[in-house]
Amino acid sequence: MLVPQSLPAVLRTGAPPSAQVARLGGETMGTSWSVVMTLSPGSVLADVEAALTAMLDRLVAQMSHWRPDSHLTRFNRAPAESWHDLPPDFQVVTQAALRVAAESDGAFDPSLGALVNLWGFGPSGPRAAPPPQAAVEALLAQAGWRRLMLEGARLKQPGGLHLDYSGIAKGHAVDCLSRLLTTLGIRDHLAEIGGELRGAGVKPDGAPWWVGLDSGAGSTETVVALHGLSIATSGSERGFVHDGRAYGHTLDPRTGAPLENNVASVTVLHPECLLADAYATALMVMGADRGLAFAADHGLAALFVLRDGQGLAERLSPACQAMLD
Ligand code: ADP
Ligand code: MG
Repeated sequence: MLVPQSLPAVLRTGAPPSAQVARLGGETMGTSWSVVMTLSPGSVLADVEAALTAMLDRLVAQMSHWRPDSHLTRFNRAPAESWHDLPPDFQVVTQAALRVAAESDGAFDPSLGALVNLWGFGPSGPRAAPPPQAAVEALLAQAGWRRLMLEGARLKQPGGLHLDYSGIAKGHAVDCLSRLLTTLGIRDHLAEIGGELRGAGVKPDGAPWWVGLDSGAGSTETVVALHGLSIATSGSERGFVHDGRAYGHTLDPRTGAPLENNVASVTVLHPECLLADAYATALMVMGADRGLAFAADHGLAALFVLRDGQGLAERLSPACQAMLD
């Protein structure tokens, strides 16, 4: 059982009996979103739903690289040396992406959009076999987070650089769901997009929002209390198999090709889902040895699931281990 150390010893006794548990959900960012919440007296579910969906639509309009008209797609198509004023969320995500890129020495790289597309994981559609090496090298030359220049809210397009925030934007959107619910007076909630979660407050019975971690490694299921805490996992099954080799949708920014390490998935617990999401992708790219050392150095709570011969093995970072009862 993983328990955040910030969990108060005496939990609130719970919402009054009149409190109503409500659920909302839908589709966004190519996946599903959902929230479970204790509705405060006076809040109207339809109004909450309208506010949440408008917010999600706004984020998609800014940062989807699947939308031809999004702010991000326009940036990707813009001429070399042009400067772009970013709306606030785009700026926040860009700052976080560049921070994790720098800390991880480029393991997380938000500038791989053209390569993600080339490998068939983007809007131009799937492919059945790897692309020619020359095409990979050509696009790799135009990628690289170090080519980006952010000055306040202004971002410079260095020329031919394609942002892809798929490894971080869902996490930010989960933070936004949670913050908006809090603003609407709904302090007790669990927000989720495509398996990335953030929990705040407690359930109506006073218990925390327990979430199961299904690592597939076979051991008894680990559960974590999401009390002011987020969780994100990198390493979904998306990808293709060619000549007996699996090509996943997370790329090694050094080669421009899908990862070749033995990491099946990485789960990160962090107060901010934005960072949990980006670090999970970064650790996945770093692999077990470098990733576990990085998690230890940065005090990150991370759970690695490694392919080990026929089976799967779990490795926990010290901060994650410290949450164990
Ligand atoms: P998932 O949870 O679905 O496994 P991630 O959060 O790990 O997803 O993000 C994977 C997506 O991020 C890819 O589909 C791709 O669009 C993009 N991406 C691929 N490689 C990297 C990388 N090294 N750094 C940042 N983003 C990446
Ligand atoms: Mg991620």
